[in-house]
Amino acid sequence: MPELPEVEVVRRGLAAHVLDRTIESVEVLHARPVRRHLPGPEDFAARLTGRVFTAARRRGKYLWLPLDSGDALLGHLGMSGQLLVQPADAPPERHLRVLFRLGATGTDGPLDLRFVDQRMFGGLSFSPSGAELPPELLHIARDPLDPEFDDAAFVRRVRRSASGIKRILLNQTMVSGVGNIYADEALWQARLHGERAGDRLRVADVERVLEAARAVMTAALGEGGTSFDALYVNVNGQSGYFDRSLEVYGREGRPCSRCGTPIRRVSFMNRSSFFCPVCQPPPRRVRPVAVRGVRGG
Ligand SMILES: [Zn+2]
Repeated sequence: MPELPEVEVVRRGLAAHVLDRTIESVEVLHARPVRRHLPGPEDFAARLTGRVFTAARRRGKYLWLPLDSGDALLGHLGMSGQLLVQPADAPPERHLRVLFRLGATGTDGPLDLRFVDQRMFGGLSFSPSGAELPPELLHIARDPLDPEFDDAAFVRRVRRSASGIKRILLNQTMVSGVGNIYADEALWQARLHGERAGDRLRVADVERVLEAARAVMTAALGEGGTSFDALYVNVNGQSGYFDRSLEVYGREGRPCSRCGTPIRRVSFMNRSSFFCPVCQPPPRRVRPVAVRGVRGG
């Protein structure tokens, strides 16, 4: 499943290839990826045809391509989605779902933007007036790499929450774009167990895990993103290879690089959490309960 660094790599690829290009035609080959456009695939194609892409933006794992009309093409890659930029004569991909034929620019010939998705949890939609920020994304928090992310506000919100810190990191209304892999990596770096409750962490703990998330995600960006799913490739069709640098994720039973203790795996929200039981001691199960004293008579 693509995480934020992969999506950012895709955004950069789109910014490099599709800006200032006119959408000459749109072919929806499977209705499911455009299911959120309620008027249907034909209306989706009609609204986009003739428009020009003016930018490539991202909030968390959502991407959008603003149009010269002030609207936007909004996309989410889901589990297995890809946005590929291809020469117009490249053979169609097996799981090609939506095909945009883009016109030439002053310097480059025509090309295709292709949405390819095997499992089709992702999708595309048309966002009216969504160029600046699609209204669909208003509830999604900024991500830690966003220059306008508010560290102090995040720390305050975490320390008011009784949820475990890993659950908080995965909550898109608190912070976006930190998926399961980067949450585990950041928690290991910060030496925090994912079940430690937000309201029992110190300010310095929260700041440390936020910095760790930034460091892990920045490193992943430098390497083109992590890929665990053979289905995932970036905008130019190359797989990420950051997985070589992971410390805990997918490393059950292998020694922690800090202390040598075998990495442990536990199930977590239908997925897995990986951690070092020594560097990241689990919280005590039972919260102290305030008990009123009862005076004997
Ligand atoms: Zn360790």
